[in-house]
Amino acid sequence: MVKKIFRSTLFSNFLILLLSLLLIVGAVYRYFNQLQMEQLQTQTALAAQGLSVEGRDFFEGLKTSNTRITWVDNTGKVLYDTESDATKMENHGDREEIAEAIASGHGESVRYSSTLTQKSLYVAQRLVNGTVVRLSVTQHSILLLLFGLFQPLLLVLLIMLALSIWISRYTAHRLVAPLNQLDLDSPLENVVYGEISPLLRRIDHQQKELASQEQLLTQKKGEFDTIISKIREGMVLLDNQRRIISMNPAAQQLLQADNESVGRDMLEVVRDLQLNKLMEAGLTGVKGEGVLTVEGMTYKALVRPILSDNQVTGLALLFFDITEQWQAEQMRREFTANVSHELKTPLHIISGYSEMLHNQVVSEADVQQFAHKIHSESQRMVQLVEDIINLSLLDESPQISMEKLDVYQVATESLESLSGKASQKQVALHLKGSSHFVKGNHALLSSVIYNLCDNAITYNQPKGDVYVTVTGKDNKVLLEVKDTGIGIPKEEQERIFERFYRVDKSRSKKVGGTGLGLSIVKHALKCHGASIEVSSQMGQGTSMIVTFPSLTDSEA
Ligand code: ADP
Repeated sequence: MVKKIFRSTLFSNFLILLLSLLLIVGAVYRYFNQLQMEQLQTQTALAAQGLSVEGRDFFEGLKTSNTRITWVDNTGKVLYDTESDATKMENHGDREEIAEAIASGHGESVRYSSTLTQKSLYVAQRLVNGTVVRLSVTQHSILLLLFGLFQPLLLVLLIMLALSIWISRYTAHRLVAPLNQLDLDSPLENVVYGEISPLLRRIDHQQKELASQEQLLTQKKGEFDTIISKIREGMVLLDNQRRIISMNPAAQQLLQADNESVGRDMLEVVRDLQLNKLMEAGLTGVKGEGVLTVEGMTYKALVRPILSDNQVTGLALLFFDITEQWQAEQMRREFTANVSHELKTPLHIISGYSEMLHNQVVSEADVQQFAHKIHSESQRMVQLVEDIINLSLLDESPQISMEKLDVYQVATESLESLSGKASQKQVALHLKGSSHFVKGNHALLSSVIYNLCDNAITYNQPKGDVYVTVTGKDNKVLLEVKDTGIGIPKEEQERIFERFYRVDKSRSKKVGGTGLGLSIVKHALKCHGASIEVSSQMGQGTSMIVTFPSLTDSEA
């Protein structure tokens, strides 16, 4: 801006200067011209007077310096000339000033030389006798004058130019200085040129608008951050280079990342081939989803491209923790496979044995044994199917009716129904403790105590004991089933509650176990808000302690 002001000021200054100079020179030239003409007129009048009085004698001893005097008769014939021989001069009757003087008594004219460098002024006057005297003076033309004045003019011009440069620079800086000192943070407080007030008002208006938009944006960002921080699902926003723009706390937790991950490539945070493929497809505008496993956790990942003007400007990634569903699904699949397998084995035995009996290929002596085998296998199947039904009922979590139950009483009933099996196995049953009440479902509580005691008898030694104790402790009801049996190895104690898990598969099958008893116990206890603890020593026995929450005052 300074440069522009400087240039235009300098240009106009210089132009004005040049024009002024030319005009002044022109005016001075004109003035002197006029002065000379007036002088010439006076001199002509004097010469006319002299000639009228003295005639030709007037020229004697006359010093004329640069003025030329020509005397002609009334036809234009030259009678005398101060510079040339009159006899050799041509007739001057056609000269403009002479012709005018002959006609009207006075004539004037100005003529330029052929090179335009010289100019002659002529003044002619008629005498009383009819002759005409003409005075002429030759001077330089204005062009020559200018040319002659070239050096001093150039000097003046250079001085003026230097002065102009200085003034222009000074003016430009002075003009711009207040603009440079403008305080644009508070535009209306500036006291400068009135001409820029509309601009300052506009800046002020735009600044206020910008500030309010920024405030709105911050508020919206705050709202957005609050929303995404509250979302339980992991949410990650990426730019179109796959760099992380934002990541909510849930995503940081799921992907074990932190705030420092922002700005990094997503693949540096989660190295997963499938996620990479999903993101690559997403960057071409294709949405996708897949299941990822990160550090033992399973996530469903949704990848959605973010479009702006039909261009992918980024990606939105959503992660859902489906570890539990995935494991449940896995368990369901395993359960189905196990059920088919468990049912197939007795069915094959029953089908094979009954076919042999039907084809009468079994000797009379073995018929009894075959029939017993078929019976025991079908009993196992019945037990298995019953257990599966019980488990599925528990899985579906039907509305279980709860009532106030005496654990001691239920234990008495369970032990009664197991007394036959116990005496058959030569195991003694002992019930200790006293009545303690819990909120529960009779059938489920019976199956818990029955299964625990059944195992305590099944996996006991001959002449062993089973102690069932019902006590109260710290506002809780405890049920302990303790045996003097074979024990459970430490590393297996966690797993015995899994479906179809058996420590010794062949032994369990031999004694009619299905591998589902403790799964039913675990499930049924969950419905009661109760927990179970196992402690066991190999060859010495196992103790299972169930802790029930006691009744509340209103339930008691
Ligand atoms: P099962 O029908 O085979 O008894 P359970 O689910 O009831 O199935 O038990 C799982 C496994 O835990 C059993 O196969 C057995 O190996 C072991 N087990 C359970 N209770 C006892 C116990 N009191 N003593 C020793 N082993 C036991």
